Amino acid sequence: MQDAGIVKTGKLYDEDAYAVSFDAEVLSAEGNDVVLDRTLFFPEEGGQQADRGVLGGIEVADVQIRGDEIHHLLKTADVRAAGILPGKRVSGEIDRAFRFSNMQQHSGEHLFSGLVHGLFGFNNVGFHLSEREVTLDFDGVIPAERIGELEILVNRIITEDIPSRIRYVSGREREELEYRSKIDLPGLVRIVEFPGYDTCACCAPHVRRTGEIGVLIVTGMIRWKSGVRVSILCGERAVRQCRKDRDIVIKTANYLTTSPDEIYSQSVKAKEELRAMKARLTELGKRQLEKDADAADPALPDVFLFSPDAEAAAARSTVNRLTAVHEGWSGVFTGSDSRGYSFVIGAGKNADARKAAALLRQQFGAKGGGSDKMVQGSVMAAEAELKEALSGKSAAL
Ligand SMILES: [Zn+2]
Repeated sequence: MQDAGIVKTGKLYDEDAYAVSFDAEVLSAEGNDVVLDRTLFFPEEGGQQADRGVLGGIEVADVQIRGDEIHHLLKTADVRAAGILPGKRVSGEIDRAFRFSNMQQHSGEHLFSGLVHGLFGFNNVGFHLSEREVTLDFDGVIPAERIGELEILVNRIITEDIPSRIRYVSGREREELEYRSKIDLPGLVRIVEFPGYDTCACCAPHVRRTGEIGVLIVTGMIRWKSGVRVSILCGERAVRQCRKDRDIVIKTANYLTTSPDEIYSQSVKAKEELRAMKARLTELGKRQLEKDADAADPALPDVFLFSPDAEAAAARSTVNRLTAVHEGWSGVFTGSDSRGYSFVIGAGKNADARKAAALLRQQFGAKGGGSDKMVQGSVMAAEAELKEALSGKSAAL
């Protein structure tokens, strides 16, 4: 967030963060790239996405600082064809709503980071502001239970409607001033201050008064390097996010036929019930397989059992139970004709399980493999087709 240096292009956004339209002289125009003597377009800088808008009637795709110039990259292959020529004047207009939202997010970030610095002594070491996210990286771990408190405190400062103060400092004044993001660079440093709450070096446009931020919400916090990454939203973006979250809560509550306050406990209960039912189903499936295995005629060399939902472990133990009795192939197929089957096939004393897998591969394009004693895989075929293909074949192969 430190200023990169003296920029040749005049920064109109620095003089008036609320101005929307401007005109300027074209210094260079090549391909889609235009450099002006001054601009209202804030370039991508300090983790903040560039301004949007139009220049000479053409939409601006991106704005970048290169050396001491601000480059406007337009959505056209040839700006000269559109009459944007060196020496000519051109007018531009920034997307006011987008800029103002960025000012709200960025000023909110300063207040939040100032509070964290004051309360915990942690530094903001990274900032990202885009349409996708607004994230703040801190070099220490903010306890999760303190986030609610920080949110309340920052919103109190917003409500107090404190004026911002932006100025350039240098020399002794700069040395003696206490501010965040202090980097030892020569020359002027732009200081953004919310008196009584935060003082920070920063190059970006900010709101005139904290009341314009509207509201700040913390939408998430994750561990990040040795600290945390906090996600925030301000103003309308915060309200939209709250609406979205609330809609999900209400939809889920209606679905669970409960109240929003009961969603969590009801979800825990539902998941527990589901887990218990799955365990019961697994147990029943296992018992049914064992029953079917014991009911098979011991004189049959090959036996194939089908189950809609046997667990892999139950399928394998049943196959072992069968191969102890039957000389040929013993298989358990789990699934259905429409979904296909996963299979475990074992070999009795006179058979080779790999040959069963090869046969299924040839006939049905089955996948899988294993040893001569046991193969596992999956196949798309119907129960009747599989039985027809495999029954009585182990001895022939
Ligand atoms: Zn900043």
